[in-house]
Amino acid sequence: MITDQERRLLEACTLDAPWELVEHFSRTPRWRPEDVNKGADAIAERLRALGVPCTLHQPEIYLSIPLSASVEAGGVTHRAKPPSMSLSVPGGRTGPLVYLSANLKALRSYSRDVQELFGGSIASEAEARAKVAGKIVVTEGFGNPALTSLIEEWGGIGLIACNPGVDIHWGTCTTIWGTPDLDDIGRKPKIPVVAVNKPTGEALIAVAKAGGEATIRTEMLEGFFPQKIPEVRIEGAEPDFVLLHGHYDSWDVGVGDNATGDATMLEIARVLWANRATLKRGVRICWWPGHSTGRYAGSTWYADAFALELDANCVLSVNCDSPGCRWANSFHATTTMSETAKLVEGAITDIVPGAAFKTKRPNQAGDYSFNNIGITSFYMLSSTMADDLRKEKGYYDVSGCGGNIAWHTENDQLEIADRDNLLRDIRIYLLSVLRVANANLLPYDFVATAEEFAATVERYTKAAGDHADLTPSREATAAFRAAVARLKDDAAAGRVPASRANELMKRLARILVPINFTRTPRFAHDPAFTAPPLPGLAVASELPRYSGPMLGFAKTQLMRAQNRYVAALREATHLLG
Ligand SMILES: [Zn+2]
Repeated sequence: MITDQERRLLEACTLDAPWELVEHFSRTPRWRPEDVNKGADAIAERLRALGVPCTLHQPEIYLSIPLSASVEAGGVTHRAKPPSMSLSVPGGRTGPLVYLSANLKALRSYSRDVQELFGGSIASEAEARAKVAGKIVVTEGFGNPALTSLIEEWGGIGLIACNPGVDIHWGTCTTIWGTPDLDDIGRKPKIPVVAVNKPTGEALIAVAKAGGEATIRTEMLEGFFPQKIPEVRIEGAEPDFVLLHGHYDSWDVGVGDNATGDATMLEIARVLWANRATLKRGVRICWWPGHSTGRYAGSTWYADAFALELDANCVLSVNCDSPGCRWANSFHATTTMSETAKLVEGAITDIVPGAAFKTKRPNQAGDYSFNNIGITSFYMLSSTMADDLRKEKGYYDVSGCGGNIAWHTENDQLEIADRDNLLRDIRIYLLSVLRVANANLLPYDFVATAEEFAATVERYTKAAGDHADLTPSREATAAFRAAVARLKDDAAAGRVPASRANELMKRLARILVPINFTRTPRFAHDPAFTAPPLPGLAVASELPRYSGPMLGFAKTQLMRAQNRYVAALREATHLLG
């Protein structure tokens, strides 16, 4: 049910300012450092013209900008694009080609699981090493970070990712999240990586099968660059705030990814600023650089620079990427943590009654730079094409632009944006933010989170068979579930004041989000590949695969991870008294 106050703000939304920004960005590429800064200036100018005060931060962040690439094989020079953070080899690197057949279902996977990536085509890691060492690998897919790190570990000297269509997609190949620190820098890719289109890929696979060789050439611009971050701070009656954020740097002019998101945040800034006197909590709105060429370096800098403020007062992070795209009328892939699943379902179905709606767990991607601090988060990509429509169009699966395969190519132009869908998605984002910013009692359900944990522990217990005893995890989860259910009831009945319950829920997130999404400590940043649910405990499900000393190592890892998990859940239970 939409309240009168919500309706007033929703009806205040128009397309005037947002569409003008989408049109402006459709003419201005935003991936070279100087052009990215011009993008920030464009946002700041428009905010000021709308009467919304804006701060421009200008950190130095580490970027890798692809300049050019090619692959030469069989006397033919093929067009290619190097993903950001590929090794720069302007003089070229030559080696024998080897073809690894990819599991096509895992094209978009950020997993390092060999089975998931290659299906049955590689039986073991030893086999992979024997095949790949000293060679340039050709495989289907996108030149993604997890894949690149595996090929490098197996001794491969280069990677050619054959994209599934006629276009070549830009991307990134590092597992490092944001600007590297001394602990991260060793993971920077040490091999050249390129993406090619399907016809080139087929030609190269044929060369590989004939035992031929290829030369990869990549040219990158890399280093620290000053990049601007526009930030709007709208204060509420209380110090706590919601962070709404998305990237404004893009591949080429990036309309669906992410000019439409930038426009969404511009309009929400305008409407909330005009109505700031009514806000219970503050709302901060940030536009990030360094998403595409710095693996989220903009949001990562903000997470680091404002870490202690975020820890003290941020109750929610909302990521805004690729809303308002052509043909995107489905909400079947809505990203949210468990505690906010009901909240986002309510917001989306209030704006779009009867919407096709389903939630999914946040990937380790998309400017989710706040997991290690422990902030409840939802959304990433927004509305998307229904699967049937995608299949009807013969589209393969991509990670943005509402499912339009113009994603990360020169074709992500004005036609990818859709006015009606954009206005609808602006309202969804606004309503979702408002319902947290103005709630007396935060509309979070941590019982759902506890139930997610219980289901995860159950799944790992079954998968581990006789190899592991997860009883301590199961017991700690049950105790926490009981404590958090009590808090939910007491808060609903007014036996615990809302202000106290809100503070407790904020503190719970600081414990539960890290344990469910990260392996490294708070205030660090996990690598950019898939973190399974309760990632520490996930090793339990791998135990049946191991034997000999490896089984002993894996069991040792699980014992430590279980200690971390149980201690965290005990701390959460204790917090609730
Ligand atoms: Zn994006």
